[in-house]
Amino acid sequence: MGRLIRFVSSHEVGHTLGLPHNMGSSIAYNVEDLRNPEFTKKYGTAPSIMDYARFNYIAQPGDGDVALMPNIGPYDKYSIAWGDTNLS
Ligand SMILES: [Zn+2]
Repeated sequence: MGRLIRFVSSHEVGHTLGLPHNMGSSIAYNVEDLRNPEFTKKYGTAPSIMDYARFNYIAQPGDGDVALMPNIGPYDKYSIAWGDTNLS
């Protein structure tokens, strides 16, 4: 339950920082990457937590410790850094 609350609250904080929904990020990672524990640990399951990419439905029981839930992703970090550099 704590991870779900962190997921939703991170998304909502993204809105308060000015990030809109990012409906394009859920197609950015391919099936092979979404089944790879090292990849999903480093990059999450989508590049943006502002997408509605809810859970990693691609993962299979034999994939090991693959991430199942989105985290703050590379696109989010880039967007916040860009805004901090160019809009402040
Ligand atoms: Zn939202």
